Amino acid sequence: MTANTSKCAALANLAAPGFVVEKAEIVPAGPAPAADGSGAVDGSGELLPEHCLVQGMLNPRIGAGGRKFGLGFDLRMPTNWNGRFAFHGGGGLDGRLAPALGDIFGSVRPSALARGFAVVSADGGHRGDWLDGSFGLDQQARIDYAYNALDKVTLKAKELVGQYYGAAPDYSYLLGCSNGGRQGLMASQRFPLHFDGIVAGDPSIKFSRIAVDQIWNTQVAARIAPKDENGRPIISRAFSDGDLRLVADSVLKRCDALDGLADGIIHDWRGCDFDPGVLTCKEEKTDGCLSEAQAGALRDLYGGPRTSDGKPLYGAFNYDTGIADPTWRTMHIGSSGTGEWDSADATLGLSNMRYYQRTPPDPKLDPMDFDFDRDVQRTRHTGAMSDADSTFLETFARHGKMIVYNGLSDQGMASSVLVDWYDEVVSVNGKSIRESVRLFLIPGMCHCSGGKATDRFDMLEAIMAWVEEGRAPDRIEAMSAAFPGISRPLCPHPLVARYKGGDVNKADSFMCTD
Ligand code: CA
Repeated sequence: MTANTSKCAALANLAAPGFVVEKAEIVPAGPAPAADGSGAVDGSGELLPEHCLVQGMLNPRIGAGGRKFGLGFDLRMPTNWNGRFAFHGGGGLDGRLAPALGDIFGSVRPSALARGFAVVSADGGHRGDWLDGSFGLDQQARIDYAYNALDKVTLKAKELVGQYYGAAPDYSYLLGCSNGGRQGLMASQRFPLHFDGIVAGDPSIKFSRIAVDQIWNTQVAARIAPKDENGRPIISRAFSDGDLRLVADSVLKRCDALDGLADGIIHDWRGCDFDPGVLTCKEEKTDGCLSEAQAGALRDLYGGPRTSDGKPLYGAFNYDTGIADPTWRTMHIGSSGTGEWDSADATLGLSNMRYYQRTPPDPKLDPMDFDFDRDVQRTRHTGAMSDADSTFLETFARHGKMIVYNGLSDQGMASSVLVDWYDEVVSVNGKSIRESVRLFLIPGMCHCSGGKATDRFDMLEAIMAWVEEGRAPDRIEAMSAAFPGISRPLCPHPLVARYKGGDVNKADSFMCTD
């Protein structure tokens, strides 16, 4: 038995009431486990160093409906530690314990763990499917998912890191996208001393209003969809794939060259004034045009939910190429050939609204009965604890750095909502906040990755350089899976990349400017 083996196993002796240690053992160097926690090997070829794995649970208890709850965590501490700590952000409605790699769903390679970080992940306070909101029947589970698991697991993990290495981390980071991005914002707003550096990708910032938007989207699609034999709308047929491609092509035609180069990427997204009305059929509906009802529905989907007198309840989406990406269909209309809907809006979104966002929960809520004048106020109680849109960052800005990013083709998180938040952060905290918090909008990128975009970038390197060496991210070079061989700069909002001349494949040929 090596010294590390016994030192790792000894962490089990710290078990106490309210702190269960299920595992404390050395994992030899080898392939990374898959993110779903199934025990399979990750397909990316990611290799992990030898590390001490501690799995356990804080505050185990029996809650609503006799269900077991508790703050599950997975902590991995490499034998060759680089002195840094990272929290591995969650996703969806959490409920599963991902191996703590610190890799933002595979977008950070090598992962933080492979780079020598001690990394912890958390299950959000409940176990189940990440699409399933039923934990929201339990009061404490709502609090745990909103912010408490992030807080308590971080503090416990730092304590265990101190025990294992005999030293506190030099630097602490949070790396997340989607719900993990929301956790990043939440950490900067509610636990401003926990982390030195935060990467918050595609965050569900106004989470309660995203759920409202998802109900809205389902109603809009149902309005124009053909009916099945039982009279139920087949929302997947609201738009054909050809319709969606037609819109993407038309958006590109109007807006691609605004940034100086027609390269399939719309950098000047604010200059893009596309309206689907230009595609309305002159006569009957054919492949090359949209029906009037479809054009109207697109305006409603992109405009976001509103009250009957027109008051916006979430925010507007920008038109971009991602509408033709399969993830847009998966999110909003799905592929079911019947009135049994399978879109993420009608499954994850509805479960989120029924069980978690709504007070009191209403497991039988029919999305078609949701009233945008009357029912939105039922989301304000959960919204107050899990929406991460506070703008006063005085304490965090004293020591911390945060990179926030969002795909401009994110099918669920409207970039305009994040822009409005960031602009308010600047007005509340003053322009100097740009030396602590920056927002990057990534043209063409869908939720967290994908799309016709430069979606390959190393945000871990960027945040470390900013925190540890004071090198602020004035531009971040990004590569592309969709356009092999090209690179583009990602620019801090409000700047966008514009072509200045030279090799069209190279980021150097673009400048970040107004
Ligand atoms: Ca362009």
